[in-house]
Amino acid sequence: MEIGRLIERTEECHRRIALEYYNHFSGQQDQLNVVSILGEYPELYARETLDGILSAAPGESADERLLRFLRADFSGNYVQDQIKGMAEELANAEGAATVTLGEQSWPYRAMPVIIANEADYDRRGELEAAYLAEMDRLNPLRRRIFGKLAQTMGELGYPSQIEYCEKLQGMRIRPLAEQMRRFLDETDELFSSRLHHYASIAGLAGRELRSCDLGFILRARQYDGMFASDDMVPSLARTLRGMGIDLDNQKNVHIDLEDRPRKSPRAFCVSIRAPQDVRIVLKPHGGQDDFSTLFHEAGHMQFSAHMNPELSVLYRHSGDTSVHESYAFLLQHLVSNPVWWKEIMREDPGDYPAFARFHRLYFLRRYGAKLLYEIEFHERGGGEELAERYSEHLTRANVVSYPRERYLADFDRNFYVLQYLQAWIWEVQLRRHLESSFGESWFSNRRAGDFLRELWNDGQKYDVWEIAQRLGYEGLDISQVQQEITA
Ligand SMILES: [Zn+2]
Repeated sequence: MEIGRLIERTEECHRRIALEYYNHFSGQQDQLNVVSILGEYPELYARETLDGILSAAPGESADERLLRFLRADFSGNYVQDQIKGMAEELANAEGAATVTLGEQSWPYRAMPVIIANEADYDRRGELEAAYLAEMDRLNPLRRRIFGKLAQTMGELGYPSQIEYCEKLQGMRIRPLAEQMRRFLDETDELFSSRLHHYASIAGLAGRELRSCDLGFILRARQYDGMFASDDMVPSLARTLRGMGIDLDNQKNVHIDLEDRPRKSPRAFCVSIRAPQDVRIVLKPHGGQDDFSTLFHEAGHMQFSAHMNPELSVLYRHSGDTSVHESYAFLLQHLVSNPVWWKEIMREDPGDYPAFARFHRLYFLRRYGAKLLYEIEFHERGGGEELAERYSEHLTRANVVSYPRERYLADFDRNFYVLQYLQAWIWEVQLRRHLESSFGESWFSNRRAGDFLRELWNDGQKYDVWEIAQRLGYEGLDISQVQQEITA
């Protein structure tokens, strides 16, 4: 099949699936019916299409870069096709699952938020146990998915998903793992002391800390008063206005804040079609978390909404997701920036920025440990004994004992964990560049907005390493984020 036609069909298929995800995870449609949509595009998933693309040479319809994207995309399609039935079964089972404690029941997917908001120590533990039991019930299905994935990697000629991601997507997995190992060693003491400090603020002094307490500690209700729900979207609009973006009149974006019982508590941004139709789904539950989540998703949204519509769909919807995440974190971290507080909120944030640094330290350590665990999982073939290793890696990073039941659910396929880590590292370097070019209130400078819009225009055509080099850096360097969050 001709490459131009395959790209057109890719865009159409993407649009329909993105809409299906939006409808299901925003709680407006019970069933997720991805499989039936994919059934209408068999040529995008066929082995012979993939073989054709793998053996294609650069030419008129695709240069070397586009061909690289096509190889990664169509390999991904093929892999996805192998597990699509089981993946949909899992999504629907999770969507329908409920967790019951005593007289009360909740949707399974709502549990992380319910547990994080439960102030009673004993009840929090009981909720967590009920949640983990339900999670464990679906682990056999998750195991089957991972087994099929490993088998498909072999069939495509890769020893594991590590080599698949490194060779096809240009990920630098093992070098980053080395940086994270060092980072964990160097921040053990600091993290432990800050964790106990914030635990005692949360009323947990002297209590044994469990994994379910982390969400409660990080929920940090003491800051809720600083974040008025009715100012959430207006404060975002004020911020964007400074960069020359008029949120109220942006026709290609939509923010869905409506409360629906089956709405996923995990916020997300979905590009039905970038840049023409980009949506955010968020289920507000109050406090600082809502603000930073909204700003995070707004970073994704503005990036997608400013992509050049002429770009190939592959550069708009595929590529290095660290680029996407770095713009999300660039906006998210404004919410804990004292200069932003002064200019946009006209208030003093007190010790909230220090708490936000602890929060970021926690996430960097958690994802660093997840990266080390996920590498080990793939290297060792992902048997059930990896549950113990998961618990060991995460317990070490979080300093509280971590349940084994999560070893398959707390897992991002295709090393998404690396994309987050790279984005956290790169966001600080990008922000330093903005500060030195446009001053510390760069977010109120229209020229900084122009600069970002110029980067956004390229979509994900360039990976985060290429962008770093374009802005004069040698590459990604963890020392800047480490310096910032350990200050
Ligand atoms: Zn994100």
